[in-house]
Amino acid sequence: MSYHFVTINYFCPQTEDRELRVLLQRQRLEDVLHWQEQERRDESSPWGCLMCRAEFVGWHGQLLDHMARDHNFSVGQPHNLVFVRELMDKLEGKMAELRCVYCDRVFKTREVLKEHMRKKAHKKINPHDKSYDLFYVVNYQVTKYHSGFFLKKK
Ligand SMILES: [Zn+2]
Ligand SMILES: [Zn+2]
Repeated sequence: MSYHFVTINYFCPQTEDRELRVLLQRQRLEDVLHWQEQERRDESSPWGCLMCRAEFVGWHGQLLDHMARDHNFSVGQPHNLVFVRELMDKLEGKMAELRCVYCDRVFKTREVLKEHMRKKAHKKINPHDKSYDLFYVVNYQVTKYHSGFFLKKK
């Protein structure tokens, strides 16, 4: 894993040269698609299901399929996602704090949390939470950011 996240201000529509902006964007999309390709072959460690103890080796599509099929927990289509390890770590971190991944409410036990997520249909990612944007490839194809995330080789 040779990338890390840095935040730079490179979308300043009023001041910035449009050609430069398009170039940066294209580069960013290429980086992301390249990284997604690497991820497909990442077998470094097994994937653990957020809801049960199931583990999967190899492509994360298996894990996401399992979560969607067996737990009705939908993260998104595997081919639309990137930085899936980071995404799963983030979701796992919330669950470890007994925090609902969708509404951020905190519960006393894991059972109560899971029950809440099931009842309220909160087994999904909140589309209004911008901190998840970087995990969706579609967000690298549009120009909606004033301040964007970018990838930098270590
Ligand atoms: Zn499971
Ligand atoms: Zn919730």
